[in-house]
Amino acid sequence: MIAGKSRRQLEREPIVYHVGMDDPEAHEFQIEMRVPALPEREAVEIAFAAWAPGSYMIRDFVRHVYGLEIVDEAGRALGRDRLDKQRWRVASGGAPFVVRYRVFAFEQTVRTSFLDGDHAYWNGTSLFFAVEGETMRPCQVGVAAPAGWTISTALPRAGRGAHGGHGPGRGPTFLAAGYDELVDSPFEVGTHRVLRFRTAGADFELALFGRTNAVDTRLVDILRRIVTTTADIFGGLPFDRYVFIVHALPVATGGLEHHASVTMDIAGLSFEDEKGYVRFADLAAHEFFHAWNVKRLHDPVLGPFDYGRESYTRLLWFHEGFTDYLANVIILWAGIIDEPAFWRWISEDWPRYAGRPGRKETPLSELSFEAWIKQYKPAENYFNNAVSYYEKGLWVGMALDLELRRATGGRRGLPELFRKLWDRAGRREAAVTEADVRAAAQAVGGRSFDAFFDRYVHGTDDPPLPALWRQAGLAVKQVAPWSGESGESDPIKRARARSWIGATVNGQAHAGGSERAVVKNVLPGSPAAAAGLTFGDEILAVGGDRVNASTVGKRLSDHAPGQAVTVTYFRRDRLREARVVVGTSPDRKLMLDTPEIRPARGSTSSARAADAIRAGWLGARRPTRRARRP
Ligand SMILES: [Zn+2]
Repeated sequence: MIAGKSRRQLEREPIVYHVGMDDPEAHEFQIEMRVPALPEREAVEIAFAAWAPGSYMIRDFVRHVYGLEIVDEAGRALGRDRLDKQRWRVASGGAPFVVRYRVFAFEQTVRTSFLDGDHAYWNGTSLFFAVEGETMRPCQVGVAAPAGWTISTALPRAGRGAHGGHGPGRGPTFLAAGYDELVDSPFEVGTHRVLRFRTAGADFELALFGRTNAVDTRLVDILRRIVTTTADIFGGLPFDRYVFIVHALPVATGGLEHHASVTMDIAGLSFEDEKGYVRFADLAAHEFFHAWNVKRLHDPVLGPFDYGRESYTRLLWFHEGFTDYLANVIILWAGIIDEPAFWRWISEDWPRYAGRPGRKETPLSELSFEAWIKQYKPAENYFNNAVSYYEKGLWVGMALDLELRRATGGRRGLPELFRKLWDRAGRREAAVTEADVRAAAQAVGGRSFDAFFDRYVHGTDDPPLPALWRQAGLAVKQVAPWSGESGESDPIKRARARSWIGATVNGQAHAGGSERAVVKNVLPGSPAAAAGLTFGDEILAVGGDRVNASTVGKRLSDHAPGQAVTVTYFRRDRLREARVVVGTSPDRKLMLDTPEIRPARGSTSSARAADAIRAGWLGARRPTRRARRP
C-alpha cells in the first residue's frame, strides 16, 4: 500500500498522454506524457522508437523531438541522463513524473506524422515515448484538436467521466491496453469525410482525407467486397470495428497495416478510369489481409516488438509476398476484377519479374533478413544482385497455390493454408514460424512441400510458373517482342524491338525542360557494360544525334543488333565517348489471354484435372462469389 493505493491499483494506473496542436501551421505537436508512481523504481528509462512496425527500416523518429522537459508533479525539473540517441534515464525516485516535448511533423507518409492547417495524422511510433518495463500498462491519450476537426482511430473513446476524460479544452480521451496498441492505432484528425458501413458482423469506418475524383460509393462497395471475401477465407473477422484511413494525395506512396486499422496514401486524382479503382482495391485487399497475415499470424520477432532496433525476420516473403499475391486473388474472387483482367495482370507483371537481373542471386529468406540494410537502402547495383521479397514472394505464393491445388484436385490452395494456420495458431494469437507454414502446407496438400520451400525460399530458383499455368489448362507462350506472334502488327516497331544494349535510363529534370538521359542501371554482361557505361553517366548523343530521356531508346533502336554506334556522354561533367555494339533483346512477352489460347476444355483426364485446378484457383466454385461488376 502506497498513498492509500494497493499494488494492484498501482499496476493498473495508466500512462496518460496528451496531444496538442496549438499552432498547426508550425507543424509541431505538443506532447505530454504523465507517468504514474512506480514505487519500486528509483530511476525510469523512457525510450523513443527507432522504426515503425510494418516498415523495415531504421527511421530514428527521435530526430524530430524538441524541447524535452521532465518534471515532477510539482513542476520541478528531475535529474536525467541521456543514454543514447533515443533513451533517457529519469531520476524519479518512484514518484509520478511528467514528460513534455514537441514533435516536428511534416512528413506525410503512412509511417510518420504530419500536421498542418487541414489535418493531423500520426503513426504512434513517431510521437510517443515508451516507458521501459511498462509497455503492458494501460494508456490513455487525450487529443485537443482545432474546433470543427473530426477524430478517426481504431482506439475506443473513454466514456465521459473516465479518468483524464473530456476536460475543458483538453479534448476527448482514447484508451489503449498498452503501448503496443497505442502505437498500432494511427490517428487521422482533421477535415476528412467519414463513411461508415457494416458487414460480416463488424463496423467499418472509411476516413477519407484530401481531394479525390473517386466516387465515394464505389470505394465503399470495393471495401465491402474485400472485407466479406477475406472474412470468408478466415471464417469471420477478428475484430468488431476497423478503420480505413485514406489520404488522397498528389502521389500514391502505399499503405501500412495495423491491428484494427490501416493507413493508405493514394493518388487522389487517379480515378479517371477503372484502373484507379483496381489499384485502390489491390492496395486495400493487401492491407486488409495483413489484419491476419503479419498482425495476428506473425514471426515471433514481429510482436511484441523491440522498437529500439532492427527485428530480423526471414519470413517477409510470406508476410508480404504471399499477401501481395492473395490480394490479387481476393479482388478476383470479390468480383472487383474479372478473369481476363487476372490473366492480363499476370501477362504484364511476370515478364517484368522474369527480366530482373538479380532474381536468382539471393534466396528469399535472405532478402527478408537483409531488408533493413538493402531493400530500403538500395545501392546502384542492388537490382543486379537482388529482387524485392514482395515481387518474388508473390510469384512463389502463386506457385505454392497451384502446387497445392494440383495435389488436391483444385479443392485447396493458399487461402486454405492460411485458414489452417489461423485455426491452429492465429486464434490463440500464437506466433508462426516457417515450420508452421510448412506443416500447414503438408496438412492442406496431403504431402510434404519441404522441397518446394528449400528450392524457392532458401534456394534461388525461379518458381516454375509457366509449367504450373499449363497444368491449370492455360496455353502459355513466351514470345520475342519482334516475332509475328507478339501481337504487334507494325513490322517496323517489331524490327526495332530487337535492338538492346542492357542499360536502363532514367529521366532527370533539366533546366531546359527536356529530361536528361541518366543511366540508372547497366546489366552485367550486357553491351552497355562491355562498352564501359555505368550508373550516373549522362547520355547526350547516340550516333551523333542529340538525345534526352524519351528519345535515347529510339535512337539506339535505329541500329540493328550487331551494329556499332558511338554514344557520347558526360561522366563527372567530362565529355566521353563509348562504342557500343548493339545486342539482341532478351525480353519475352507472356501470352495468356488471347482468344486462340483461351483455356482449352476437354474430356481427357488431364484436361479435367486442369479444369479443377483452374476452377479452385479462380474461385469459380465458391458459393459466396459475388457477381462480377459489368
Ligand atoms: Zn504489406
